[in-house]
Amino acid sequence: AKRIVIKIGTSSLVYPNGNINLSGIDELSFVLADLNNQGKEVVLVSSGAIGVGMNQLGLTARPATIPEQQAVAALGQATLMNIYSQRLASYSKKAGQVLLTRDVIEYPESRKNVTNTLEQLLKMGIIPIINENDTVSVDELDHLTKFGDNDQLSAIVSQIIQADLLIMLSDINGFYSDNPNTNPQASLHTHIAQITPEIMHQAGGKGSMFGTGGMSSKLKAAKRILDCQSAMVLANGKQPKIIFDILDGQQIGTLFM
Ligand code: ADP
Repeated sequence: AKRIVIKIGTSSLVYPNGNINLSGIDELSFVLADLNNQGKEVVLVSSGAIGVGMNQLGLTARPATIPEQQAVAALGQATLMNIYSQRLASYSKKAGQVLLTRDVIEYPESRKNVTNTLEQLLKMGIIPIINENDTVSVDELDHLTKFGDNDQLSAIVSQIIQADLLIMLSDINGFYSDNPNTNPQASLHTHIAQITPEIMHQAGGKGSMFGTGGMSSKLKAAKRILDCQSAMVLANGKQPKIIFDILDGQQIGTLFM
C-alpha cells in the first residue's frame, strides 16, 4: 500500500483518567514519520479535540451543551495539533491541519478544493492531520444522532484521495461476532468481504442511544471502502507500531477487502 489513511480514536489519545496519552501520540507520530521516510503517503484522521480540551480545562465530564463542547473542541484541537507538530518535528516531519465537514463530498467544488489541498500537502511531504470541523458541523458532538463521525470522515477521505488502505485504530482488537466486552464467547472476524445485514447485526444493531454506537459506525465506513474496491483494517490502537505489522501483511485485527 502506497497511500494510507490512518484513523485514531479518542480512546487511544486520552487515558481513561482524562490525561493525555503522550506515549501513544509519540509512537503514532513516529510511525507516520517512518512510513513517510519509506516513501509512503500517509494521512491521519484524528479525534481527541474534546478530550484534550477537557484535560486543559480540568473538566471531568463532557460539557452538557453543544456550544460548550464546540468551545472545548476549539481549544483542544489547537493543543492537539501543537502536540502532533512537536512530536512530528522531532522526527523531522511537518503537519498540516485540515478541518472538514462530511458534506464536502456533496459539493463538487468543495470536494475538488479538498482533494487539491490534500494532494499538494502529500506532494510537499507534509502530513495532513484531519478532523471534523466541530465549529461548523456538530455531527460528531451530537451523541443522540451520532451516525456520522470521524469513522465516516476517514472513509470519505480515503475515497476522495483514492487511498490504498484505511487503517482504523480503536480500543478493541477488531470486529467480533458480538461485543466481546459483554460476550466472552465472541470470536474475532479476521476477514470480511461484504457488509451483510447479518454482519451489521453483530455490531449491536444501530448503536444504542447512549453508547458510542461505535462498531456500526465502523462497519458503515467499511461498507463505503468496500463499495469503492479499497481495503480497510480495523485494529487496536494501543500500540500504534502495530501499523508496521499490518503493512507487513501480518494478519492483525479485521481486514475488510
Ligand atoms: P473508538 O472510540 O476507538 O473509535 P468505539 O467505542 O467507537 O471506538 O467502538 C469500539 C467499541 O465497539 C468496542 O470497545 C466495543 O465495546 C463495541 N462493540 C460493539 N459490538 C462490537 C463487535 N461486534 N466487535 C467489537 N467491538 C464491538
